[in-house]
Amino acid sequence: MMKYAEVAVDAPAGYDRTFTYSIPAGLTISPGHLVQVPFGPRVLPGVVFGLSNESPVPETRDVTSTSRDQPILSPDHLALARWISDYYMAPLFECAALMMPPGIRERSLSYYSLTQRTSGQRLSPPQRRVMDYLASRTRVERGALLRALDPRIDSALVSLVRRGFIQVSSEWRNPTVRPRYAIHLELAPSADADEKEAILKRLSPRQASFLGYMEEQDGPVLRAAAVREFGASVVGGLETKDLVRRVDVRLDRDPLRGRVFPPDDPPVLTPDQQGCVSAIESAIDGPSSHVFLLHGVTGSGKTEVYLRSLAHAISRGKRGIVMAPELSLTPQTIDRFSRRFPGKVAVQHSGLSAGERFDQWWRIKEGDYRVTIGARSAVFAPQPDLGLIVIDEEHEPTYKQDDAPRYHAREAALKLADLTGAVVVLGTATPDVVTYTRAVNGRYRLLKLPDRIAAVAGARSSGAGSQPSVQVVDLRRELEEGNRSIFSRALSRGIGRAVEAGEQVILYLNRRGSGSMVQCRDCGHVMRCSRCDFTLTHHAQAGKLLCHRCNYRRNPPGQCPKCRSRQIRYLGLGTQRVVEELQKDYPDIKALRWDRDSTSAKGSHERIMEGFLRGDAQVLVGTQMIAKGLHFPNVTLVGVLCADIGLFLPDFHAGERVFQLLCQVAGRTGRGPLGGQVVVQTYSPHHYAVTAASSQDYAAFYDDEMTYRREQALPPFARLIRLVYTDISQAICNREATRMGDALKRQRDAWGLTDTDILGPAPAFPPRLRGRYRWHIILRGQDPRSLLEKAQIPPGWSVDVDPMSVA
Ligand code: ADP
Ligand code: ZN
Ligand code: ZN
Repeated sequence: MMKYAEVAVDAPAGYDRTFTYSIPAGLTISPGHLVQVPFGPRVLPGVVFGLSNESPVPETRDVTSTSRDQPILSPDHLALARWISDYYMAPLFECAALMMPPGIRERSLSYYSLTQRTSGQRLSPPQRRVMDYLASRTRVERGALLRALDPRIDSALVSLVRRGFIQVSSEWRNPTVRPRYAIHLELAPSADADEKEAILKRLSPRQASFLGYMEEQDGPVLRAAAVREFGASVVGGLETKDLVRRVDVRLDRDPLRGRVFPPDDPPVLTPDQQGCVSAIESAIDGPSSHVFLLHGVTGSGKTEVYLRSLAHAISRGKRGIVMAPELSLTPQTIDRFSRRFPGKVAVQHSGLSAGERFDQWWRIKEGDYRVTIGARSAVFAPQPDLGLIVIDEEHEPTYKQDDAPRYHAREAALKLADLTGAVVVLGTATPDVVTYTRAVNGRYRLLKLPDRIAAVAGARSSGAGSQPSVQVVDLRRELEEGNRSIFSRALSRGIGRAVEAGEQVILYLNRRGSGSMVQCRDCGHVMRCSRCDFTLTHHAQAGKLLCHRCNYRRNPPGQCPKCRSRQIRYLGLGTQRVVEELQKDYPDIKALRWDRDSTSAKGSHERIMEGFLRGDAQVLVGTQMIAKGLHFPNVTLVGVLCADIGLFLPDFHAGERVFQLLCQVAGRTGRGPLGGQVVVQTYSPHHYAVTAASSQDYAAFYDDEMTYRREQALPPFARLIRLVYTDISQAICNREATRMGDALKRQRDAWGLTDTDILGPAPAFPPRLRGRYRWHIILRGQDPRSLLEKAQIPPGWSVDVDPMSVA
């Protein structure tokens, strides 16, 4: 038995701090246990990270209790939590909490009461008040005590506890999510045969038939159902005669319960697919972790490769985790896995109720499933015997968590694979340039599926399955030639033709950050910062253009600095407006909108999608949400209304995002036998992201993007860390950010960390979020962490390692 436990406590402390507690006799504690420990005047939850026989500190307090008999975190998950905490500079307990079942992480309640010790000694007035308040009560809960007296009596509590005048005890608050039980009935073990004979004789015919029914069952029967069938008096009668008895049976809230998945026959793999599957299979059979980048266009059969690889892992007694971005985790995806592996699929995503997630979590841990499918957080599923982790659409920014701990699920998966020896398959049509660089450098193995399946397997009709044709329309020319509509002539013609032929159209709008970039309609020039070349954004209130990287500001120009035109406009267009314009030109067309506003209600997603699939409308107008993972066989035309909006976001990922989105949008069409066409409207027809996407040429995009990243010293050529400070006061934000920026610069110079750049401070973009102003500082360099490791990060600052955005 070890004497001490190292515990990460759910309290603010250094992000990687653990505290040493002594283990009292009678408590069995292992690493991974959820425990309660005294912390200052309170009792708080904590996770045991290690055990030892020596304590680094002279005095330790006892662990108060453990929440369960079994540790809830495995050694691999403890190691993963440590890594996330360390790499992302996030509190260790928070990182461990990512891997706990939902609802378990309830704060415990602390209660104060008087001890036997009388306080003859001198007490401060606040201490006196606490003692008086407790004198007439057996115990008082901490929150209630602070409310009744004064939140500032905390230090009085600390010293009273230390001096032994009051004591603190604790209880777990009822967890919000619990297993659900229902009363069932089962046959009571029968007494000796003679006695039973006698009892049976005295049964009414209905009681006898109920008993007969019970004898036919394999297991317990839901009592409510029995009552419905046989009546309360019959059931109650047999209960009093001790022929049946009540038992609690735990219900399983299974999100897939009751769904029937007709099994499918695996298709014969194409030679390309076979090559990929063989490589992954031998890695699964090998002794160590391997990472594959599966680069294949939409519809090239990547999912089939995942399915085969998983089947192989299962045949070796292993299990898998499959991750997909929340939005593309459509019922279609879950269907495909469930049909191939009936009854072996667990799901974890935000569409589940808390109860369903809770039950799934425990069943996964118990080894009931062969695969867990889910969004970002599925990487933390307690899946045992991990052999394969699949990350579909690995380039998706939603794999990075916005709130602390700001981990990237792909990086966490790679670490987990490293710990467990699992094989990782990263699948995408448009790899993250950082991922692709790792593949080029040999850290990952690159597998390719260059062709769509339908094209390989023999097209059903000509054009089917081939890549859709992409036409780039120069909006500057449209204006020059007198067309002021939001639809170019090519797009307008296309819509008319498709609708007439009874086909469907998707109009796609990249609305992120609408209305804030300033562009010349004649030459396409976008206003940029003269100091750092970052896109300027327009702030209507102040009437200024602002750089979110270096805080440069200027008045909006009256004319274009490049071509002198006065046609300056603020980029931005809503789906509502698009529908109105459409109906002006085509009064008979029915259009559906799909954006954040129209899909905020639960299930509205599916309703709109199903409606469009049924043909309720000819045109679907939507934001980037529609670009993801859906199959609309009748869509033959996709129009991108203005590619520039995303292109000039003040964000270093802008080019990458536009390329990815345009490729995905193009992938939405041409999947059916009708083939497809894409029209991309833009003021920047020569931007590399647009030209590369229009020819679906990843290599071309990668080369240009890497040139840009090298010039700007952006990942993968440097690492970034973003520090954000928020406050309801703009002035306080500004002052604190300036102070921090100066302090960091002084420290950097003093320590000679010359290769770390400090950009800003500047207002973040958007500058105000949920009522709070935001200022930020970007650290850039080969090892920007070294600056933070030595510095103390003051409260109020959040740290984002490898940020998705630097604006
Ligand atoms: P991706 O995941 O790359 O978008 P999918 O795996 O969904 O591609 O494949 C696209 C379509 O082709 C699906 O309908 C799938 O069932 C089918 N498919 C995949 N592999 C084969 C194959 N070897 N033979 C025939 N059809 C296939
Ligand atoms: Zn111009
Ligand atoms: Zn600037």
